[in-house]
Amino acid sequence: MTTKPMFDLAYEGGFGVGAFNVNNMEITQGIIEACAAEDSPCILQISKGARAYANILFLRKIIDACVEQYPDVPIAIHCDHGDTVDLIRDCINDGYTSVMIDGSHHSFDENVSLSKEVVDLAHAHGVLVEAELGMLGGIEEDVVGLDAEEYEKNIEKFLTDPEGARVFHDRTGIDSLAVAIGTSHGAHKFKHEAKLAFDRIERIMKTCPGLPLVMHGSSSVPRQFVDLINQHGGNLSGTMGVPEDQIARAVRTYGVCKVNIDTDLRLALTAKIREVFSTNPEEFDPRKYLGPARDAIVEMVRGKLHMLNSAGKADVVITHWKKMGEPMPDYYRATAGA
Ligand SMILES: [Zn+2]
Repeated sequence: MTTKPMFDLAYEGGFGVGAFNVNNMEITQGIIEACAAEDSPCILQISKGARAYANILFLRKIIDACVEQYPDVPIAIHCDHGDTVDLIRDCINDGYTSVMIDGSHHSFDENVSLSKEVVDLAHAHGVLVEAELGMLGGIEEDVVGLDAEEYEKNIEKFLTDPEGARVFHDRTGIDSLAVAIGTSHGAHKFKHEAKLAFDRIERIMKTCPGLPLVMHGSSSVPRQFVDLINQHGGNLSGTMGVPEDQIARAVRTYGVCKVNIDTDLRLALTAKIREVFSTNPEEFDPRKYLGPARDAIVEMVRGKLHMLNSAGKADVVITHWKKMGEPMPDYYRATAGA
């Protein structure tokens, strides 16, 4: 499905949908197993880097398997940080139900025209669009944001401008908006404890009533995984994430409907693999370290689904989806007719 049935309910319903980045089979299985165990909707998102790394044909088949194996789990497939119209067109042709166009590094007017072009293209194929306004700190693949120190010092200036958001929404017709409200990409988000700008979220909700908001860079960077990595030969220092209680508040009290989580998946996977390698140096069966890594992802994502309050929401999303009779994106209608 698209993200619309999910966001319709999430906006007013006090929950958020986790958007988890998928790069290979074990990560995807870990996420979807957790969602099935917790009866939660989920967004599987694919970055440009993931398309290149795994080959989108392989990722698509893995996601098809998720849909077949877990028919009761509402799943949306989303392009994370799309940067060109050509990439978005490929994503639409590959069966994505939702795309992000990130023009946040362009001028306001260029961001508007790029986002509008993508909205026209995607909507014509039944696909929804997320765009971004404002600037985040940190680094995520080829998305380079602001330096942590500079970001924290001048945070007010980089947060999404509520009045700008209203104009942007009006001029583009986007379906959801990624906002800069104090989160940051990567594992080294902040020098100090992060504080989300709840007053800013509130003001954006007033200028853009009903528009689902998206939080990028929302990993909490769990201490347990960082410690495990460092205990077993890793070297991660100065890591800092977004406290989970702040994310919980953003989805329960405000119109934050989508919460992006990638770094925490990487940390869980790496921590477990390192642990197996250093405690069983004679081990060389990939199943013996990728298996525990997948288990760690299942457990961590289950916790996230409770934090997001999306656990137990699969049924209502499916019911709403059927009732609203939303047409599937062209890709799926063509597949069903074939
Ligand atoms: Zn992002």
